[in-house]
Amino acid sequence: MNSQELFQASKQCIPGGVNSPVRAFNSVDSDPVFIARADKAYVYDVEGNQYVDFVGSWGPAILGHNNPEVASEIKKAIDNGLSFGAPTQIELELANYLTNHIPNLEMVRMVSSGTEATMSAIRLARGFTSREKIIKFAGCYHGHSDSLLVNAGSGALTQGVPSSAGVTEGVAKDTLVAKYNNLNSVKELFEANKGQIACVIVEPVAGNMNCVPPEEGFLQGLRELCDQYGAVLIFDEVMTGFRVAFAGAQEVYKVNPDLITLGKIIGGGMPVGAFGGKKEIMEKIAPLGPVYQAGTLSGNPLSMTAGLTTLKLLNKEENYQQLKESTEYLLTGLKDLASKYNIPFYTTQVGGMFGFFFTDKEVVDLEMAMQADLSKFKTFHKFMLNHGVYLAPSAFEAGFMSLAHTKADLDFVLEVAEQAFAQLA
Ligand code: PMP
Repeated sequence: MNSQELFQASKQCIPGGVNSPVRAFNSVDSDPVFIARADKAYVYDVEGNQYVDFVGSWGPAILGHNNPEVASEIKKAIDNGLSFGAPTQIELELANYLTNHIPNLEMVRMVSSGTEATMSAIRLARGFTSREKIIKFAGCYHGHSDSLLVNAGSGALTQGVPSSAGVTEGVAKDTLVAKYNNLNSVKELFEANKGQIACVIVEPVAGNMNCVPPEEGFLQGLRELCDQYGAVLIFDEVMTGFRVAFAGAQEVYKVNPDLITLGKIIGGGMPVGAFGGKKEIMEKIAPLGPVYQAGTLSGNPLSMTAGLTTLKLLNKEENYQQLKESTEYLLTGLKDLASKYNIPFYTTQVGGMFGFFFTDKEVVDLEMAMQADLSKFKTFHKFMLNHGVYLAPSAFEAGFMSLAHTKADLDFVLEVAEQAFAQLA
């Protein structure tokens, strides 16, 4: 079956034909291509077409797809059995590796997705502070647990369902929403809810309203407000961890959160998540403390193996230099082309994570991200897809560079982009 036939058949038994909404390509008015395999910087659809991929499984594929060393370690692990539901040495090795390399991560608990990581971190912050309310930011996405599906980004935004049906008023009322890059909006919430805010959760570089970096002093200001009002500061580094720098956004911005959530890259493409931070807080988790949290497949040996192998391969300064330079090369090329064809175009980048918007204004929050020209994005996206470039099928997702993208790949992408811009002009 070709992609179209597979999509029609999938719609009969999977809601919308997909297992995660943004994959349906609704927001770019296209149909999805069905992927058969991936290697290095490319994904291949079922018809055998090759695409230069900037989705990278939404972040994990930072080494490039199908890395031979990661694949070989997973194959070895398979021979020992798939899952035991019991402690293993490989869990200890990954936990040690994470706590040794990530600042402020004194203890860590493994889970199976980013959603579980943030949901558990929120419960922990509430249990630790004995407070009920939380502050999140409009346009930040932290997975689909109820209390975090309020003014969320990513698919929730793309689909035009900022707050999902099925999230009760009771849950939503404890989630207060501030504006990204706007410390005053956070301070006002703290003042109006004195002694009631358990935590502030933030994507230190927002990647779910497209890519929106923090302005100078924003994260530091959150640290100060949390200290002043006795709230836990949670950095959701599910996307930024090992992406914007080896030790994540903490390394770039030098701000110390109390709790950190991780996912994506630390599983090397296998299902994973983790949350951790200060020992004093983490000791409140069961079986040590009163905050319950558990998982049948938590610490799965294949995920741990894929993650640890990926991190060890990644851990070289020159890798992060390469990710940064490749991304700069691509964005500079795109900006030059956009200006040649007089197309308003604005780009953002932190290391190997990037965004582009069809606007000539600076974008620092959700409101501005939503003002960019969506119809230009759709036309651009469709052209790129039809000519072998696989971009996130939404104007509200970040792009991801990998170590496998070569200059030739990027030059190819720029050639296609020139034709796309020419069509838009
Ligand atoms: N937090 C952030 C910042 C994310 O980007 C995502 C997913 N893109 C999540 C949490 C949820 O992770 P998962 O999809 O693995 O549940």
